[in-house]
Amino acid sequence: MTGSIQGLQRFESPGKGRALRVTRAFKVGELLFSSAAYSYVLSAKERGCYCEFCFSRKNGLAKCGKCKKAFYCNVKCQKGDWAMHKLECSAMTAFREKWCPSETARLVARILAKKKTQKERCVSERMLLIGEMQSHVEDIDNEKREMSEADIAELHRFYSKNLDFPDHKDLLTLFSQVACNGFTVEDDELSHLGTAVYPDVALINHSCLPSVIVTYNGTSAEVRAVRDMKPGDEVLISYIDLLYPTDDRNTRLRESYFFTCDCQECESKSKDKAKLKLRKKSDPIEPEVISNMVRYARRSIRKFRSLLQCSLDSVAPPSELLEMCEQTLEEMGTVFHDSNVFMLHMMYQAMGVCLYMDDVEGAIRYGEKILQPYMQLYPPYSLNVCSMYLKMGRLYMVMEKHAGGIKALKKAMAIMEVTHGKDHFYLTEMRKEIAQK
Ligand SMILES: [Zn+2]
Ligand SMILES: [Zn+2]
Ligand SMILES: [Zn+2]
Repeated sequence: MTGSIQGLQRFESPGKGRALRVTRAFKVGELLFSSAAYSYVLSAKERGCYCEFCFSRKNGLAKCGKCKKAFYCNVKCQKGDWAMHKLECSAMTAFREKWCPSETARLVARILAKKKTQKERCVSERMLLIGEMQSHVEDIDNEKREMSEADIAELHRFYSKNLDFPDHKDLLTLFSQVACNGFTVEDDELSHLGTAVYPDVALINHSCLPSVIVTYNGTSAEVRAVRDMKPGDEVLISYIDLLYPTDDRNTRLRESYFFTCDCQECESKSKDKAKLKLRKKSDPIEPEVISNMVRYARRSIRKFRSLLQCSLDSVAPPSELLEMCEQTLEEMGTVFHDSNVFMLHMMYQAMGVCLYMDDVEGAIRYGEKILQPYMQLYPPYSLNVCSMYLKMGRLYMVMEKHAGGIKALKKAMAIMEVTHGKDHFYLTEMRKEIAQK
């Protein structure tokens, strides 16, 4: 457990509660620790592309013979996963296309199953830590509570055959623990692969100037230094996307994690001006015009997000989504500079829609506008910058622009050597790919 990981120590941080610090120096790119997931679940939309058990990505995975919905590397992975997959295997067959629990409900079902087997085998330290995780049940607003209630209903509907449930209050606590402490497992392009719980990593507090970054190797989380650290330094990750200005970051932190950040960047707001850069005009823009446009931008972002949550097909055709991005960009562009983060946000969405529509040239056009400001506005060794280089590199390669492609891929690899470690599977694969060109 954490106490026994060399070079690390738990401590009580005034005002923040439990926290983690290093007891020796760590250099940029050095692994602090890696952590096996307490529990994890592969996203339903990734079925067939990844092994449900080890999260390996490969062609020719073998199907579960019963439900024909879960895919594995081999019999060993299938056997390894059975204790968890059996919660869903027969239910998926019985409910057919009506089987639709949320990913959170699926993860909580797995946590409950795991807790049960551990209780039978006597309590382990990991389970204690799950109990210790912050829940913030008392801070939850109505919207979140309704979501949890819907999740609990799904749990009863799809899992009651295979699970005994604790009482309603304990379930609410568990859902809110998972909401605060669950990690989204992402691939090298930051696509969502699944959700997992890592009690050790959940000890790490937030800062907008993080000292470490979390990446994934199969289903394990790896924590590496992105700054040189000296003995006694607190281990700090960022819980949120660091692109946005201080007010927006803290709104996000309060809504999802129930605190306000007091890091050096939140005090100095040193990057806010560049993040909110305005278009050059002969006359200065009125403050009221600026604040109205910021409100318009925030509203547009929320609107676009809620549209996307209903999945790309069921809402509007992608061409309409793209039009919405373009209109918003045009409107904001009367006040904001192209490198303003609200412009970048909308361009990033537009790039995603282009990719969805296989419009490679459109995606490249947006990507080229995003990359330069991303490098300036994100901290060094950012996964967001890295994934943008990767996407662009791969798009250039598709368009047979090999020189530009390899250059972008190498930029991504330089970041990944620090964030993922030199020997990560992603890097060995990319080295092979580049050597073939
Ligand atoms: Zn596997
Ligand atoms: Zn099955
Ligand atoms: Zn901060």
